[in-house]
Amino acid sequence: MKPRKILVIGAGSAGRYAARQAARLGAEVVLASPPPFGGLCILKGCMPSKALLRPAHVFHFLRTGLSELGISLDERSLRVDIPAIVAMKNAMIREMAESAHQSVMGDPGIRFIPASATFLSHSSARIGDEVLHFDRAIVATGSTPRIPEIPGIDREWLWTSDDLLESLTLPRSVIVMGAGPVGLELGQYLSMLGVRVEVVEISPRWNRHVDLRIGEGYLAALAKSGLRVHLGMTAHRFETYGGRPILHATTKEGEALRFEADRILFSTGRQAAVTGLSCEQAGIHLTHAGAIAVDPCLRTSNPHIFAAGDVTGHLPVLNLATYHGEMAGTNAVLDPPRVVEDRPVPLSIFTEPEFARVGLGESEARERAIPVMTGYLPFSELGRAIVNRQTEGALKITASAKTREILGAEMFGPGAADLIHLIGVALSLRATVDTYQRILHIHPTMAEIVRYVIDEMTDAL
Ligand SMILES: Cc1cc2nc3c(=O)[nH]c(=O)nc-3n(C[C@H](O)[C@H](O)[C@H](O)COP(=O)(O)OP(=O)(O)OC[C@H]3O[C@@H](n4cnc5c(N)ncnc54)[C@H](O)[C@@H]3O)c2cc1C
Repeated sequence: MKPRKILVIGAGSAGRYAARQAARLGAEVVLASPPPFGGLCILKGCMPSKALLRPAHVFHFLRTGLSELGISLDERSLRVDIPAIVAMKNAMIREMAESAHQSVMGDPGIRFIPASATFLSHSSARIGDEVLHFDRAIVATGSTPRIPEIPGIDREWLWTSDDLLESLTLPRSVIVMGAGPVGLELGQYLSMLGVRVEVVEISPRWNRHVDLRIGEGYLAALAKSGLRVHLGMTAHRFETYGGRPILHATTKEGEALRFEADRILFSTGRQAAVTGLSCEQAGIHLTHAGAIAVDPCLRTSNPHIFAAGDVTGHLPVLNLATYHGEMAGTNAVLDPPRVVEDRPVPLSIFTEPEFARVGLGESEARERAIPVMTGYLPFSELGRAIVNRQTEGALKITASAKTREILGAEMFGPGAADLIHLIGVALSLRATVDTYQRILHIHPTMAEIVRYVIDEMTDAL
C-alpha cells in the first residue's frame, strides 16, 4: 500500500509531535510553517516567560529573603540589567529553537517547508509557491493574544505578552488585565523588579474550580510579594491622558475606580490562529469562539482533516498540545481513529509561590455528585518548609469517599509545579489513599506534605 501523504500545518509543539508520530507510523509527511521556527512555547510562551521570571525571583529573594537566613547584603549593590536578562533569554530560546529545527530536519520521514499554508480545497493546500495534494491534513496553527473590545484601547500603551517579553526597559507602572497564568507570571516578573503592578480580573472569584482556601491563600501570598489582584472588576473604558492610559472600572459592589499606569498588559486569553488558512475551502467548521471544532478523535468537520493544540480552543497548555499532536499524528495514519483519552491535565502557575492542580477538586467532584473525603495541610506545618523558611502555601487532596481513590489535588507553595506530579502519578495508577499511604517518603522533604495529607485522610476513617 502506498504511504499516506500527510500535511501538517504549523511547526509548534502540537505540529512537531504530530509530524514525528505520523512519520514514525510510515506516512510521507510535509510540515509547513513560516519562520521563525519554534512555536509559541519556545519563542514567546513557556520558555521565555520562565527565563525572565527566574532572575526576578532571585532578585526579590536577595532583597527580601536573606535576612531570615541570617545573611545580610548591601541592597545598594544590587542592580538589574534588563537588556542583559532579555539577551540571556534570547540566546536560550535561539538554542532551543535551533535544536527543535535540527530534530525536524533530521527526520527522514518529514519534509519541512518554511512557509504558510492556505487550503485550496478539501484535499489540497498552497504552501508558498507549491500546491500540495494530501490524503490527510493536521492543523496545528496555535493561537494569538485575544484583546477584549473595551472602548479607548490605544496601541501606544497596549502590551501583550509578546511585547513584554521583548521589552528592554521597564515602565514604572503596569495594569495587568486578567489574573490567569500569563498575567500572574508576567505581573510578578514586573512587580519583583520594582514596577508598580495592579492586576484587574473580571471574575469575582479567582478560578471558581479551585478550593476557596487555596485560591485566597495563593492570592494573599502573591500580594505579600507585591502583586495585588483586584477581583470582580468590570472594565468600562480607557482614556489616554498625556500619552498614559487610565482605566475606568467598577467593583462588584458598583464602586467606580480609576487606575492609571504607563502600560496595560492584556493577558485576557488567546484566540485560535485561523486567519489566512481558508478553513471554509476545506470544509472545516469553527466553534462560536472561532476555534477549530473537533470531535473526540480530533477530527474536524472534514473527516480527512484533524486539528491539534491551541487552535482547537481546548485548554492552552503544552502538555495537552503535545498529547493532541501525537494523537492527531496517529489518527491521520491509522484507521479507525482513536478517541483522545480523558487524561488528567496537570496545570501550574510559575509564580513565587507556585500554584498547581491536577484532577478533580472538591467542588468539581461534588458537581458530578461524587461523595468525597478531603485532606488539607499548610506548609507552615511541614518540617522541611519550616527549616527552609518557605512556609507560604498549602495542599488539599480530594478522594472518593466510596472507593477511597485519589481524585485530585490543588496547592500553592514552594515547588508546587513539581510536587503535583506525585498526585498525577497516583491518578494515573488509580491509587487509593491507602495504597499511597504505604509509600515511604524521604524526610525531611517538601514531598512529605503529600504523605501527611494522605495520613490525615486515612486516619480520619
Ligand atoms: C506567555 C505564555 C506563557 C506560557 N507558559 C506556559 C507554561 O508555562 N506551561 C504550559 O503548559 N503552557 C504555557 N503556555 C501555553 C503554551 O505555550 C501553548 O499552549 C502551546 O505552546 C501551544 O502549542 P501549539 O503547537 O498548539 O501552537 P504554537 O506553538 O503556537 O504553534 C503554531 C505554529 O503554527 C504556525 N502557523 C500559524 N499559521 C500558520 C499557517 N497558516 N501555515 C503554517 N503555519 C502556521 C505558527 O507560526 C506556529 O509556529 C504559555 C503561553 C504564553 C503566551
